[in-house]
Amino acid sequence: MTGVSTKGIHGADHLARVPDVVPPINISATFRYDDDPDTWVKAEDGGKPLLDNYLYSRVSHPNSEQVEAIVEQITGYPAVVYSGGMPAYNAALTYYDPKTIAIGHAYHGCRGLANLWTQKFGTKQISIDDEFGGNIGQGDLVHLESPVNPWGTAIDIQAYADRAHKVGAIVLVDATFAPPPIQDPFQHGADIVLHSATKYFGGHSDLLAGLLLVKDAETKNKLVKERVLLGTNIGSLEAAFLLRSLRTFDLRVERQWRLATAIAQHLNDNIDKLSKLTKVYHSSLQTEPFVAKQLVNGHSPVLSIEVTDEATAKLIPGKLKYFIHAVSLGGVESSVHWRVLSDKAIAPNVIRISVGVENVDDLIADLDQALT
Ligand SMILES: *Cc1c(COP(=O)(O)O)cnc(C)c1O
Repeated sequence: MTGVSTKGIHGADHLARVPDVVPPINISATFRYDDDPDTWVKAEDGGKPLLDNYLYSRVSHPNSEQVEAIVEQITGYPAVVYSGGMPAYNAALTYYDPKTIAIGHAYHGCRGLANLWTQKFGTKQISIDDEFGGNIGQGDLVHLESPVNPWGTAIDIQAYADRAHKVGAIVLVDATFAPPPIQDPFQHGADIVLHSATKYFGGHSDLLAGLLLVKDAETKNKLVKERVLLGTNIGSLEAAFLLRSLRTFDLRVERQWRLATAIAQHLNDNIDKLSKLTKVYHSSLQTEPFVAKQLVNGHSPVLSIEVTDEATAKLIPGKLKYFIHAVSLGGVESSVHWRVLSDKAIAPNVIRISVGVENVDDLIADLDQALT
């Protein structure tokens, strides 16, 4: 079987339209019809199949289709690309139109959007740890995130999926924190998988993109039709940047999770010596058997630490030389985030660490001096 690194580089070779080694950015918003009127299909006759030809870039464009082709090869599933992780999540909510959403620890933006649906449309919400029977049913949505932001720790997807499927609910997994090939949520009961491609697929902190992965081409087609109406296809420039990113996707992600694991182990082994550090959270430190079954090809490239107190947490970003204090994550540059700035549900002594691709000894030395 072809490896992820090969697919990231060659997965859209068959869609090349010119001999350029790097696919050109196709900025055209609209595309010429064929001169032959026999190829034209009236809207009342169903129009042409959406992905068969280029019509208007809100529908699709060469760069978005190249992105989807590569992602489909990397993941093995039909993929729909969006202008961000949030539009991708909104597309999933629109597609399933659940009456109830079960949601637990999750990205604050997804919780915020679920709240907006509650406010506007009366969508009910329960916790993923509530009793499902009677509270959630056919066509409702169970929203899981694993590994979970900001901790980088895994939850048992299969266990939640089994409970959800028993009552006929759909399981969405936000897998942003463990990009492929680290885990495949479909192997553990996911019905649809969300990635904020702004993070690891993009990897350079210079684009916004989102992905939904589904199990069959029919669902993809329906999502594409709805994406046309929602107007949330990825832009041409972002798609071209994402194509650039996919060429090094495997290389980056592998190095990032290995460095994050080395850092998590080092910090955890040295809690006694690092006077400001009180706790380390990372999937590599979890011992439950489901973690090894789920994270088959690595660990989260994100971890979190707890320090002695809030005042210390506020000082640490300024003491770090290589970890940039900024929101978002997944870039080749390491970063930290004092999480309470974005998410009021997180304790004020928690700092999230997104590990980039720098030299691991430099990163460890930097953290060690800041944490003492
Ligand atoms: C960033 C993020 C999102 C939102 O994605 P955007 O690309 O910022 O719209 C959703 N889920 C998780 C886990 C994220 O980290």
